Amino acid sequence: MNARHEVVRKISELAPPAPAEDYSKRPLTELYGENVFGMAVMRGVLPKKTYQALVRTVEQGEALDASHADTIATAMKDWAISRGATHYTHWFQPMTGLTAEKHDTFLNYNEEGRAITEFSGKMLIKGEPDASSFPSGGIRATFEARGYTAWDPTSPAFLMEGVRGKTLVIPTAFCSWTGEALDKKTPLLRSLEALNKQALRVLRILGNTHAKRVTSTVGPEQEYFLVDRRFYWLRPDLINAGRTLFGARPPKGQEMEDHYFGSIRPRVLAFMMDLEHEAYRLGIPIKTRHNEVSPAQFEVAPIFERGNVAADHNMLLMELMRGTAQKHGFECLLHEKPFAGVNGSGKHNNWSMMDDQGNNLLEPGQTPEENAQFLVFMSAVVRSIHKWGHVLRASIASAANDHRLGANEAPPAIISVYLGERLTEVVQSLVAGTKGQKKAGGVIDIGVSALPPIPKDESDRNRTSPFAFTGNKFEFRAVGASMSIARPNTYLNTIAADSLDFMATEIEKAMKSGKDLHAAVQKVVSETLGDSQRIIFNGDNYTKEWHAEAEKRGIPNLRHTVDAVEVLAQPETKELFRRHGVYSEQELASRRTIFLETYVKTLHIESSITANMAQTILLPAVFGYQRGLALTLRDVRSTLAPNAAGATAKLLQQVTELADRLQGSIAKLEAARAEVEGNGDVAAHARHYREKVLPAMEAVREAADALELLVDDEWWPLPKYREMLFVY
Ligand code: ADP
Ligand code: MG
Repeated sequence: MNARHEVVRKISELAPPAPAEDYSKRPLTELYGENVFGMAVMRGVLPKKTYQALVRTVEQGEALDASHADTIATAMKDWAISRGATHYTHWFQPMTGLTAEKHDTFLNYNEEGRAITEFSGKMLIKGEPDASSFPSGGIRATFEARGYTAWDPTSPAFLMEGVRGKTLVIPTAFCSWTGEALDKKTPLLRSLEALNKQALRVLRILGNTHAKRVTSTVGPEQEYFLVDRRFYWLRPDLINAGRTLFGARPPKGQEMEDHYFGSIRPRVLAFMMDLEHEAYRLGIPIKTRHNEVSPAQFEVAPIFERGNVAADHNMLLMELMRGTAQKHGFECLLHEKPFAGVNGSGKHNNWSMMDDQGNNLLEPGQTPEENAQFLVFMSAVVRSIHKWGHVLRASIASAANDHRLGANEAPPAIISVYLGERLTEVVQSLVAGTKGQKKAGGVIDIGVSALPPIPKDESDRNRTSPFAFTGNKFEFRAVGASMSIARPNTYLNTIAADSLDFMATEIEKAMKSGKDLHAAVQKVVSETLGDSQRIIFNGDNYTKEWHAEAEKRGIPNLRHTVDAVEVLAQPETKELFRRHGVYSEQELASRRTIFLETYVKTLHIESSITANMAQTILLPAVFGYQRGLALTLRDVRSTLAPNAAGATAKLLQQVTELADRLQGSIAKLEAARAEVEGNGDVAAHARHYREKVLPAMEAVREAADALELLVDDEWWPLPKYREMLFVY
């Protein structure tokens, strides 16, 4: 029996999932965070002074005095060991986009050679993984070869459970000895500092004396696919590239719109519940689960958290998703575009700013004062996209996301802002006021008149905008499903900080020249919005008209990674990140190199698998079928008449032509791959892959997909879309 058919038969015979544990037996409130060395645990075990110092670090960003480290380390070790941990690890996020961990035991021996457990403040604060094999984009060539990890006390330690035991996991930043960031967490933490600094400046000017700290809040909605693992094992492309490089469109895709928010199949729901259960134990506040637009596509979304913790939790969640899926006989696909012709997967990055008392700074509010604060922060964000939208675009560039951005499913690579009808009217009225024009409804007097209520859910909610205001937060929708959210948030925090800096400076200037606070705010907000108006677009971002209009407005459209990444080489970009202390010039250059190297490597692997699968899996199957047809033709003709079996002859002709085309396209792909251009120039190399290799891959796929629709189903070796997307 054909291996695919065997898998389908086995899946069809699957029993419904057996209950592993009845989750209703333990209340969520008890379960939640039980594997986390969080604030509640620490309050119970740490001396008051130490605990309070730690609270100030986490909530107000105060540096933690090293004298507390030993106390915290001992408490952490005791807690972990009492729960069965034998090892600890400094967990970090190198520039691979993944997480990294090296485990050490708590074990040591004393002078008598007896076993003791040990974990000092020094071991908590600093680790020295032999980390010379992580990408550094050239930093390491010029500086020290080794890096070190540094404890991030603002993200809680937790226990990771293996089948044979537990490990204490300590979130850390990863730097070179000379202080260059070699990871994604360090720049994120720096960007949060920059945001805090500028947001506090603005708040003080507005008369807020109580806020001590401002942080970003982030809630990433995570999309993903599930496929039965037995199909996955039959697809070398899924195994090696994370996406299907072949596959004819299924007869039924997503056109019936019957999957979105549909009832969840029992096997999938069992997976979701196990995932949530594990996430809760790790203190990841999962809120929402549902079916997504494409068949076999789903979404999981947490309640928002502080930006740094949200980024760590999303990395952890993606790991849990992969692991839990495997336990359920699924493979969880986080790739941005695992299947052509149906929706890809993104990660909607809901983002706002919050002070240390829990006030959302993008909450429009009820009173004129609250409205004024909202208008300043909202205008700052609008300006930041107007000025730096192309930089934000670069933050989410990858070969995988290129397949998604701009396709009619995901927002385009043109980064515009959606404000909704009501808020846009407010903006227009403010802008008109600066020009002395009267608008219907009157001019808004900031700080004096109250704004009309801004609806949280506009009836016509725009799903096509890459950057949408949704009531009291912005939603950056172009982030890819597999990416770490650290980078997009680093960029977002930085550009917001930059605009808040601008607004604060401008308001101060206006006040120095004699304006009172209200008049100064009115002037700066209205002018800023006036200057930024081109970036506001409330219409359908998928239309051709918008692309033309955006071009007229001068909004960049960086369609591909190779173009987008060049933004990082621009002097203004370097100056932006340098000014706010987020990336040094050297660090930014290293990121650009890694972006491009990763792009090249991704396409190198994909093109190699494409050629390989076409040559060694598909062509042989086609030849087998061709031979069967030829034999049939010969036998029928010798039995009946020399020109009998016209249909067979025609089919053989078609298959033969396509087989020739497939073989020819493989040869062309190999030639394009061999022609390595760039001579050490990674940008030229990436461009070669983008312009020559990618189209050659597509030509191979085209011939192969056409053959899939002709060749006897019995002979076709790869699981088909209609199976992977529907049989589970
Ligand atoms: P929707 O946007 O689909 O209406 P919600 O508003 O409930 O759904 O939230 C979607 C996501 O946005 C959730 O992950 C939620 O936690 C997050 N979110 C809500 N408020 C904020 C905020 N102030 N800052 C960041 N994320 C937020
Ligand atoms: Mg969604």
